[in-house]
Amino acid sequence: MTLSPRQRHCLSQMGIAIWVPRTSALPPACQPAREQAVPAPEARSAPEARSTPGAHSVPEARSAPGVHSWESLKEQVRVCERCALHRSRTQTVFGVGNPRAEWLLVGEAPGAEEDRKGEPFVGRAGRLLDAMLKAMGLRRQEVFITNILKCRPPANRDPQPEEMSACADYLRRQITWVQPRIILALGRVAAGQLLAVRTPISALRGRAHRYQQDGLDIPLIVTWHPAYLLRQPRAKAGAWQDLQRAMKLLQASS
Ligand code: URA
Repeated sequence: MTLSPRQRHCLSQMGIAIWVPRTSALPPACQPAREQAVPAPEARSAPEARSTPGAHSVPEARSAPGVHSWESLKEQVRVCERCALHRSRTQTVFGVGNPRAEWLLVGEAPGAEEDRKGEPFVGRAGRLLDAMLKAMGLRRQEVFITNILKCRPPANRDPQPEEMSACADYLRRQITWVQPRIILALGRVAAGQLLAVRTPISALRGRAHRYQQDGLDIPLIVTWHPAYLLRQPRAKAGAWQDLQRAMKLLQASS
């Protein structure tokens, strides 16, 4: 993949060194795996309409059971008391971005800053996520970003199984509404919950998965959580490979 000067700049901001192969032929280990193209769902609207920043008009016929509008779903999340986390939260964190986005990014759960501001990924990890998006030529208004949990677990502990199952229906209905063309699972918790597996993240990265629900069949790529990348900057190169794989999958289907 040829990088534009802007992408090079963004990659260096992510802390990723850019290696230039000595010859045009990459060794086999560096060759991107051939992936199955992403089939475009029948009734999909034009990609440019979906990804236009600020185009927040909602789709007409999003038939998620119990979801009558994006706004009503937001309201249900805002007042949710399905698990004990409602007692300790400042506010719920529904998600941010374009409700018709091609890209859906799913993290784990709000942290302290997200709980205060009501928006996902606004802390340090969020700034790195923004840099990752920028390197992909995307802005947060163009994608939709949400979490497995809509409320902050106290002291940022791992989400408990009962909290994830109480919250699962909200994410399911968000996915039905957005109908993204690709899902990026950020970290172990998001990947495990979306794919309903307990496989270590290292075994889930490096290939395309499918997320299937209510007749939807969406390609899903697993990558490291930005908070992990802050602790392990050497993993950033692998994360960039994951993002490239996801971009290629999408490109191949357009
Ligand atoms: N980590 C997450 O998984 N989600 C957020 O919104 C913030 C940090």
